[in-house]
Amino acid sequence: MPTFVIKEKCDGCKGQDKTACMYICPHDLMYLDKDRMLAQNQEPDQCWECYSCVKICPQQAIEARPYADFVPMGGTSIPLRSSDSIMWTIKFRDGKLKRFKFPIRTTPEGSIKAYDGKPQPSEDDLDNNNLFTELGKELPSIS
Ligand code: SF4
Ligand code: SF4
Repeated sequence: MPTFVIKEKCDGCKGQDKTACMYICPHDLMYLDKDRMLAQNQEPDQCWECYSCVKICPQQAIEARPYADFVPMGGTSIPLRSSDSIMWTIKFRDGKLKRFKFPIRTTPEGSIKAYDGKPQPSEDDLDNNNLFTELGKELPSIS
């Protein structure tokens, strides 16, 4: 089931130009009504239920009804993300709560240098058919 915003919890990310849910949605579905300071999923039919907006919302204002394969029907699953872990609160339809906490990284946040040790690209590389990780290597030609 697509996501929905709990209006009592959403603060419109305090009116920033781009809210957290708008920033993260891979399908550009989230929209902020600035008059009401309330976000909404403007095209629920198009929602992939990827949970990205649910995880990033700082107010825990977005919910998606989970599939029965990981939470029994009628339950809810609410994530709470920190810099090194995520905790899922599962609420069963009889009111029972269970919490599961998982690490989400093995290195300190911000410590990854994605391009360390990689060659600097040049303008000539725009005509190069090799992948970025193949720059500077001779690849066998296909003929
Ligand atoms: S990220 Fe959460 S609080 Fe921010 S606008 Fe979206 S639903 Fe509202
Ligand atoms: S669940 Fe994924 S696709 Fe659906 S609104 Fe949220 S971020 Fe977008």
